[in-house]
Amino acid sequence: MGQQRFDAVQTAFKKHAVEVEVPKGRPSEYFGELVFNREKMQKYLDAKTLQALLDCIDNGKHLDRNVADGVAKGMKQWAIEHGVTHCCHWFQPLTDTTAEKHDSFMEYDWKGGMIEEFEGKSLAQQEPDASSFPSGGIRATFEARGYTAWDPTSPVFILDDCLFIPTVFISYTGESLDYKAPLKKSIKAVSDAAVPVCQLFDPNVTHVQANLGWEQEYFLVDDALYAARPDLIATGRTLMGHASSKNQQMDDHYFGQIPTRVQAFMKDLEIQGHRLGIPMKTRHNEVAPNQFEFAPIFGECNLAVDQNMLIMGVMKKLARKHGFRVLLHEKPFEGINGSGKHNNWSLSTNTGVILYAPGKDPMSNLQFLTFFVNTLEAVRRHGALLKASIASATNAHRLGGHEAPPAIISAFLGRAMSDVLRKLLTVPDDTDIVIAGKQAYDLGLVEIPEIFIDNTDRNRTSPFAFTGNRFEFRAVGSKANCSASMCTLNTMVAEQLLDFKEAVDKELAKGTELKVAVMRTLKPIIARIIDTVCFDGNGYSAEWQKEAQKRGLDVERCVPKMFLENVKPDAVEMFERLGVFSREELHARNDVKFETYIKLVQIEGRVLGDLAINHIIPAATTYQSTLLKNVAMMKSLFPTQWEELSAHEVALIKKIAGYNAEIKMKVDAMVEKRKVANRIEDLYEKAMAYYEIADALTAIRKPIDLLEEIVDDTVWPMPKYRELLWIR
Ligand code: ADP
Ligand code: MG
Repeated sequence: MGQQRFDAVQTAFKKHAVEVEVPKGRPSEYFGELVFNREKMQKYLDAKTLQALLDCIDNGKHLDRNVADGVAKGMKQWAIEHGVTHCCHWFQPLTDTTAEKHDSFMEYDWKGGMIEEFEGKSLAQQEPDASSFPSGGIRATFEARGYTAWDPTSPVFILDDCLFIPTVFISYTGESLDYKAPLKKSIKAVSDAAVPVCQLFDPNVTHVQANLGWEQEYFLVDDALYAARPDLIATGRTLMGHASSKNQQMDDHYFGQIPTRVQAFMKDLEIQGHRLGIPMKTRHNEVAPNQFEFAPIFGECNLAVDQNMLIMGVMKKLARKHGFRVLLHEKPFEGINGSGKHNNWSLSTNTGVILYAPGKDPMSNLQFLTFFVNTLEAVRRHGALLKASIASATNAHRLGGHEAPPAIISAFLGRAMSDVLRKLLTVPDDTDIVIAGKQAYDLGLVEIPEIFIDNTDRNRTSPFAFTGNRFEFRAVGSKANCSASMCTLNTMVAEQLLDFKEAVDKELAKGTELKVAVMRTLKPIIARIIDTVCFDGNGYSAEWQKEAQKRGLDVERCVPKMFLENVKPDAVEMFERLGVFSREELHARNDVKFETYIKLVQIEGRVLGDLAINHIIPAATTYQSTLLKNVAMMKSLFPTQWEELSAHEVALIKKIAGYNAEIKMKVDAMVEKRKVANRIEDLYEKAMAYYEIADALTAIRKPIDLLEEIVDDTVWPMPKYRELLWIR
């Protein structure tokens, strides 16, 4: 019975690092070789087509059909030179993964032969069958069909034998069916709102870019061991498993030496990433055993999201070559850290200024504070909504644990910036804001310490932390599409900037000097945020839970309830005002969230039920039979002493019987709960019923994990934590 497990452990143990094929030349030389980037555009497009395409990418100009034909022709030539035979519209439905349908370039030449063809219309638009993707009723309410449309701002790339075209996915009546379309709207909204604010300080600003630098955490497990864990295969996480005696308590994994097999995988991944134009920069061991991280250099938000989606797909395939499976689930193992995706976010201008970094003179510092304070105000206003953007059945296992951001959205500023804000409240409105130590001003000034970027108080317990020239949103799930949270954040900040600009304009209309008008508008905002959303203390502490509630922050922990934030009046008004989502879209997308939540818990319930009944109870019973036989023999051999001699076995037999009965009872109860839940029509109510079932799963796991401790190791059917986590 435990044979499969032992074979898997042996197989895993004997594996060595796979040799990595390193391309010729330096990484900077092969960087982007699989991307139709500006360099390829120059080479493969005629001057007119190139100009029109760049105008479309850089200035949002419409691209007409003739130009699309010209672009397609150049792309085809480039692709064929790389042995490409197919193309696909690549899109991001509401599933946390990407979708692709490959079509070959092959066409009849109508002279009896075949040719390779790729025209502007195939580049620009396609019609996948929208009916098989989650749409939350948009299909029924509006139009059955959807189409994908080329996003020229994210470059086309080659993966294996296929030309990938990044696209948005929308219904024929214009509703977004994916993550990309709303993200792009939010990017435009935040630029449109931020430009007029920047122009108060610098008339040369015409465009503001949202930036994203993600850090991706993940687990690797050996594929032989993975194959012996039906729960990992079906749900991406272990639904049972006793903690390994050695897990992360020695703190020896974080930034530790990278195991050779893993190093080879990372190297391969980095090479593939670089060839695909992803500026991979950092790689390291994470806190939990078998947990790792990598991060590229940040870039434009839409492109960075595409690159993250792309590399998650590449990782999964590449891991197989190295004899691993990648786990992107937020909490694959109980009792050790889960995985997240830190989203480093900022805004920058076409004039090369990062708006979250202090400047060189008092006015640019005031601009920095304007963006800094308004962003915090947006998080104060919509903290619950921001949390809803990262809420999921899987991320729920990670948030609120003592390893991940708490389920309360607050912002960490650091001592230096907190002091600056407090000081600002006390000075006259025309006070200059300077960099500390630079000028010999008197003490009345507000001073920003020059190098707070390197400030050591890097609070790790805050979900939204200021880290010197950006905010780091740490609550995003490791397998999530970053778009959802970035779209919400961009929109929130856009709304706040519009409101701020309106208030400043009123001051200016009174003839107030600019500096004073800005300060006067900022001060009440600072007073509002400083003792509410701003919190520099320990986000894991029990006191914070209480304190946050006192401050009126959202402390909801129930995922289906969190989703409701998306359709509350404030949220609907904001998304409609900024042109990011209509009310109908928000409701439809929330239905998708409820459905996804329900299905995930449902699958886990089924898998755990099956494993409990057909893996665990039989294994425990096998061991129990051995014990029973032993006791029977004892009795026949030592008729007067057997009770004393077998006391230990008898106790074990009873314990096993007790746990087996408990498991059976709890599984039956869970199945009953599922039956009741499945009859509920209303999606929210049904999700709430499944929220309770999620709790029931934890309860079933307990006796199973206790059995694992006492049952003969040789009959235990599935790889244990100590094997999954420490074998390389
Ligand atoms: P950490 O110390 O938080 O683990 P990493 O070096 O792993 O930091 O990742 C930091 C990420 O933040 C990188 O992707 C980096 O390029 C990105 N980043 C740096 N500056 C900015 C910025 N101004 N805006 C957005 N992202 C940024
Ligand atoms: Mg990092």
